[in-house]
Amino acid sequence: MHKEKQSLIFEITKEGRIGYSLPELDVPAVELDDLLPEGYKREEPAELPEVSELDIMRHYTALSNRNHGIDSGFYPLGSCTMKYNPKINESVARYPGFAHIHPLQDESTVQGAMELMYDLQTHLEEITGMDCMTLQPAAGAHGEWTALMMIRAFHEANGDHHRTKVIVPDSAHGTNPASATVAGYDTVTVKTNEKGLVDLEDLKSVVGDDTAALMLTNPNTLGLFEEDIVEMAKIVHDVGGKLYYDGANLNAVMAKSRPGDMGFDAVHLNLHKTFTGPHGGGGPGSGPVGVHKDLIPFLPKPVLVKEDDVFKFDYDRPQSIGRVKPFYGNFGINVRAYTYIRSMGPDGLKAATEYAVLNANYMMRKLEPHFELPYKQHCKHEFVISGSRQKKLGVRTLDMAKRLLDFGFHPPTVYFPLNVEEGMMIEPTETESKETLDSFIDAMIQIAKEVEEDPEVVQTAPHTTVVSRLDETRAARKPVLRYTKES
Ligand SMILES: *Cc1c(COP(=O)(O)O)cnc(C)c1O
Repeated sequence: MHKEKQSLIFEITKEGRIGYSLPELDVPAVELDDLLPEGYKREEPAELPEVSELDIMRHYTALSNRNHGIDSGFYPLGSCTMKYNPKINESVARYPGFAHIHPLQDESTVQGAMELMYDLQTHLEEITGMDCMTLQPAAGAHGEWTALMMIRAFHEANGDHHRTKVIVPDSAHGTNPASATVAGYDTVTVKTNEKGLVDLEDLKSVVGDDTAALMLTNPNTLGLFEEDIVEMAKIVHDVGGKLYYDGANLNAVMAKSRPGDMGFDAVHLNLHKTFTGPHGGGGPGSGPVGVHKDLIPFLPKPVLVKEDDVFKFDYDRPQSIGRVKPFYGNFGINVRAYTYIRSMGPDGLKAATEYAVLNANYMMRKLEPHFELPYKQHCKHEFVISGSRQKKLGVRTLDMAKRLLDFGFHPPTVYFPLNVEEGMMIEPTETESKETLDSFIDAMIQIAKEVEEDPEVVQTAPHTTVVSRLDETRAARKPVLRYTKES
């Protein structure tokens, strides 16, 4: 990789140069001055660059090349399942019958789109073992909150007003306690034991008749399967609490085991992760929620139903928590997920899970001699190593993450989960070849060597990117969103 020296568009501006050609005006000219009310008019002309079409093309293409995406390189960002997004999904989502419909169209004119949603729900019910699904939530965290609101409505319908607590293990994803708080609950933390799993004794000591629910991420954020899940379900159900399954990590268990069979009452999925919706740039997600039959009356409305082969939105749901999203969810992402499920088939989905787990274990064992591995058992789709050994030599996990950029890789998730010192959470996914896995492993081993022999090269990385270390706090708090000559 070379350091890119690209002139910014304002630096190559030449007075009078234009990037467009328009036909001659064949209607009466209108003075802009006559159209705009006072106060809307500029006092000075805008400072726009004057460049040719080719210049502007090169400008934007160069900017796009500075971005790292799954289509440009390996992206092992733990907990995010940055797998390949098959391009067939894109062509199907662009079918005019899907892409050009209006959400206010009469139901009779969009039966095909409704059938797709209905079929997708049915497939997801089968995959999760739940009784009914809603496609409304727009992201994982939104799904968590939606499910908690249904659980709250369930308890209230039973006159159970004293259930104010949601139990969240310390190995949960950060959105879990956040969603519980937004849903109006107090969160209670349960500890992880020496194996990296929920401590059953600690769980028993915190459950009670004030427990509304337990939220469990499985596999947890250490990439470990919660072995005692059936016993946990019993502990929580025995006190009348509900069980919530954070299914964002479904890529580790899809077509192998089902939250419904483990006794869960609600689960959310991240279609933009496991089911190949493109994500990472803050684009639209989809976080459907599946529920056990007890919670069906509380589903967001409208509920999609099929009567005599006709699809309808049922608004007559007196116990519903209401709508959680305008219209019916992020339809385009749901089309992509449907396409993925149908093109993979049940055997394909099972194979994806098996390769995701195999790839993660392969990488974990190859890296084990070079980095501290706090939890030694086999992992599921991701694993967490610690940079504690390197920290003793003066190099932080952040430095190693930055150094990976010089090798053309997106770094793993760092400093998460919080219960691992200098953690690096690595999720290779099933769509990467052995060659790609090996080249990432080689880069990590080389970085570990550099830490011992030439730590400065790591401490001052990255060396090949357009910009080096940024002040990330300032970038978030005081973003410069407009380029001006002065800035
Ligand atoms: C990604 C993730 C979430 C949150 O999903 P968003 O779509 O980002 O809101 C929740 N839990 C886990 C385990 C996740 O990996």
